[in-house]
Amino acid sequence: MIDFRIEPELQAKLDWMATFVREQCEPMDLLFPGHGAPYDVANRESRAYMKPLQEQVKAQGLWACHLGAELGGPGYGQLTLALMNEILGRSYWAPTVFGTAAPDTGNSEILAMFGTEEQKARYLQPLMDGTIVSCFSMTEPQAGADPKEFTCRAWQEGNQWVIEGEKWFSSNARFAAFLIVMVVTNPENPPHQRMSMLIVPTDTPGVEYIRHSQTMGDSKGADDGTHAYIRYNKVRVPLDAMLGGPGEGFKVAQARLGGGRVHHAMRTVGKCQRAIDMMLERAVSRRTQGKPLSEHQFVQGAIADSIIELEQFRLLVLKTAWIIDNEPHGAARTHIAMCKVQMAKVYHDIVQRAIQLHGSLGMTLELPLADMWMGLPAMALADGPTEVHKVQVAKAYLKNATPAPGLFPSEHIPTRLETIRAPS
Ligand SMILES: Cc1cc2nc3c(=O)[nH]c(=O)nc-3n(C[C@H](O)[C@H](O)[C@H](O)COP(=O)(O)OP(=O)(O)OC[C@H]3O[C@@H](n4cnc5c(N)ncnc54)[C@H](O)[C@@H]3O)c2cc1C
Repeated sequence: MIDFRIEPELQAKLDWMATFVREQCEPMDLLFPGHGAPYDVANRESRAYMKPLQEQVKAQGLWACHLGAELGGPGYGQLTLALMNEILGRSYWAPTVFGTAAPDTGNSEILAMFGTEEQKARYLQPLMDGTIVSCFSMTEPQAGADPKEFTCRAWQEGNQWVIEGEKWFSSNARFAAFLIVMVVTNPENPPHQRMSMLIVPTDTPGVEYIRHSQTMGDSKGADDGTHAYIRYNKVRVPLDAMLGGPGEGFKVAQARLGGGRVHHAMRTVGKCQRAIDMMLERAVSRRTQGKPLSEHQFVQGAIADSIIELEQFRLLVLKTAWIIDNEPHGAARTHIAMCKVQMAKVYHDIVQRAIQLHGSLGMTLELPLADMWMGLPAMALADGPTEVHKVQVAKAYLKNATPAPGLFPSEHIPTRLETIRAPS
């Protein structure tokens, strides 16, 4: 059975969220700009502003909605979360106000899934409380899309793990209380069982920040970037700092990256909707050639294309969320890859049209569109480049494809007619 209706109780929650994000979170984007700003736990002004907002979110039962009931969250499920994340996607402060900001979402999920009771108390609880932020440190300067190329390693010495190597683009490390680091611990194993995850408090001796790379999306309001290039100089952590077992790093990483990607896609729906809302307002506000932009067919075409493409993408995201909720673990893998590919494309096309309809103003930093545009390359790179996900989608379908039975394709009309007409 397929039913697109939303329960009135959920709709009321979504309506509350939409108003709250517009009236309370979007102002934070303006008052405390910069994509790194929500992670800066040391900024007393922004934290003091945010605290009462977070209390309101908690009072509504909407805090940390990404975590299922078994992991300590409200357990709404991915389909409901998709509808919620659409709303949160409109503001870059909103996910932090609602306790669902990446990478803390993914990190809290793997801590909840694989963490020991001690790890949960020490790291997960303060993450859930929103008093600290965390970092996922996996990509290396010489390798990103292919984790099999990673070389940062750890070995056991007495009752400690010793970590040696470099990591690249560890987002928000400068604000984080701890890093979850993917390291080679079992080089003799098959490729997908060579790595493990270690939890490293950021103040551990030997954690050296080479620099915090700044990206185009960071450039507003940040003196320095938020993506750390880190050298681990024989960093020592106790044996119980491992998350999951030795050689289980890939398994743990998959558990967090899948969720992270689909949540990102859900928020992208909201960002695209915001750009469309701006296009609609602009179309009925601005005049040219003696009539509103909205009466020009090119403009109508841009609006229609944007609405149709977003509707298609939104349905893909919702179906993916439904599969995660209803099918066995891992069944949504291909659909998550589809979402990852498509979100960068749809976002690009819609934001580009929105900028175009706003003319010169669209390019300025006086509208959110330029900031949205600068976030575009990250969509096609973070959590794995588009190409890798396309390959994954194609392979999933190619593995079930069978070669044509004869010289011509099985859909070849003359051959089919020959078969149909052949006397039996
Ligand atoms: C905003 C942002 C935040 C990030 N945050 C984090 C973080 O917090 N922690 C972390 O560990 N990492 C993070 N990353 C890193 C991200 O995971 C990597 O950038 C990504 O995996 C790609 O790796 P790379 O940049 O080394 O590109 P490479 O692996 O060098 O790939 C470069 C290009 O090669 C091509 N390519 C690669 N593989 C294939 C293939 N199989 N087939 C065809 N073409 C291919 C693609 O065009 C790709 O874009 C972040 C990245 C961004 C942009």
